[in-house]
Amino acid sequence: MASERRQLHLFFFPFLASGHLIPAVDMAKLFASRGLKISIITTPLNASLISKTIEKSKILGLQMDVLIIEFPYVQVELPKGLESYHLATSLDLRQKFYKAAAMLEQPLEKLVQEYAPDCLVSSALYPWTTGLAKKFGIPRLIFHATSFFSICASECVRLHEPHKKVSSDSEPFIIPNFPDDIKLTRNQLPDLFTQNVQTESTKMYEQAIEAELTSYGAVFNSFYELEPAYANYYKKVLGRKAWHIGPVSLSNQDIEDKAQRGREASINCHECLEWLNSKKPNSVVYVCFGSMANFNDSQLKEIAIGLEGSEQHFIWVVKKEKNDEGNEEWLPEGFEKRVEGKGLIIRGWAPQIAILDHEAVGGFVTHCGWNSTLEGVSAGVPMVTWPVSAEQFYNEKLVNHILRIGVGVGVQQWVRFLGDSIKREAIQKAVIRIMVGEEAEEMRSRARELGKMAKKAVEENGSSYSDLNNLIEELRSHGIAGEASENN
Ligand code: UDP
Repeated sequence: MASERRQLHLFFFPFLASGHLIPAVDMAKLFASRGLKISIITTPLNASLISKTIEKSKILGLQMDVLIIEFPYVQVELPKGLESYHLATSLDLRQKFYKAAAMLEQPLEKLVQEYAPDCLVSSALYPWTTGLAKKFGIPRLIFHATSFFSICASECVRLHEPHKKVSSDSEPFIIPNFPDDIKLTRNQLPDLFTQNVQTESTKMYEQAIEAELTSYGAVFNSFYELEPAYANYYKKVLGRKAWHIGPVSLSNQDIEDKAQRGREASINCHECLEWLNSKKPNSVVYVCFGSMANFNDSQLKEIAIGLEGSEQHFIWVVKKEKNDEGNEEWLPEGFEKRVEGKGLIIRGWAPQIAILDHEAVGGFVTHCGWNSTLEGVSAGVPMVTWPVSAEQFYNEKLVNHILRIGVGVGVQQWVRFLGDSIKREAIQKAVIRIMVGEEAEEMRSRARELGKMAKKAVEENGSSYSDLNNLIEELRSHGIAGEASENN
């Protein structure tokens, strides 16, 4: 019976990218709030991004720490400082980055040996962690950092290859054997499906598929009521074990927590909220494309003109520094003057969930990264969907066709980091559609309902709350079974 009371110790090993690190820290806090001990394993620069959050959690009595492993710069010939995936902006850098990620196996193994955790929760992009966990007799839980919907869609495309049965890149196909009729084109699929050469990333993807079939299960940052057909599909049709425990971003309740996720915000959060306080409810559109997308100057100019043309108040996050001369080529002449008081540009990193949760925000232009999508859902706002790459085109379908809380800006083409090019008229039109009129109100009211469901899911006895309990109980009994067999 003593082992029943023993504190479980979990290792969290997120991929080195904000879209993984941020929800992993939120998730770690959730587990720690149930009395588990959590160690987050990451590299020095990534550790520095989360250190304040970890320190604060410790002060609040949560048992969390960070164990640092070195990034193998020299071995893979990457420049110092390139420790996060969004900085790997060329094919060569990405190949090296994936190689570096695979080289983290040895230092991780050392830590597992030293600390003997009860479970390893690791990103899907580290397929080799399944073997490592098996070696030490502990379960590995995959963290996909995306929706059930997109994993199921991707699996159906991989298994049935509908994209090989159409005659052109722009001819739509329906995802076969899928609960809903969802149309996509070859142009919108991740390059894994469309390129014929083997690269570090295609290799890793193939290994990840294999590892998924032999891992203990997966944890999802989602909630059952959001995508029940796909949570069921994942478990019953694809036959995999899963727990839905999100939205994990809702674990951040005070402003400081909301402002400090993943990176230091480039604007004082209180100032930003004060600006929003001066606006009417649902009158501001928030525009942000996550941590990776990096639009060129002409695209940014189109966004500026489209936003101005929409005549809506806005907060726009631009990941662009001023050049050496202090010029900003992307900014239309006199733009900031014209939109003064009406539009706020954040250059760098925004306190996203603090903004989204403000009652003045009535719409979200998003690249459909899963974290952002779910944060938009949790805040109960309609969205303009503007997928760029990764699995974002699947998430767009979920938002617009299943949940019916958004409209597409009209992206046709998957283009890593840079995105397809979208004209000002399309931007203006889409923004107006989610902000003004009957259609906007209908979407907003559906979005609000989903936002309420999201909050309920993480409250005591909600679906995510209960599933987290189920998972912890299962890990507990797994640990006991492991100990029993060790003692025999
Ligand atoms: N984020 C933020 N401020 C920004 C940009 C992004 O806080 O200026 C956060 C956002 O709230 C989300 C994460 O970064 O939690 C981005 O993850 P997502 O899956 O949306 O997109 P990715 O960056 O992986 O493309």
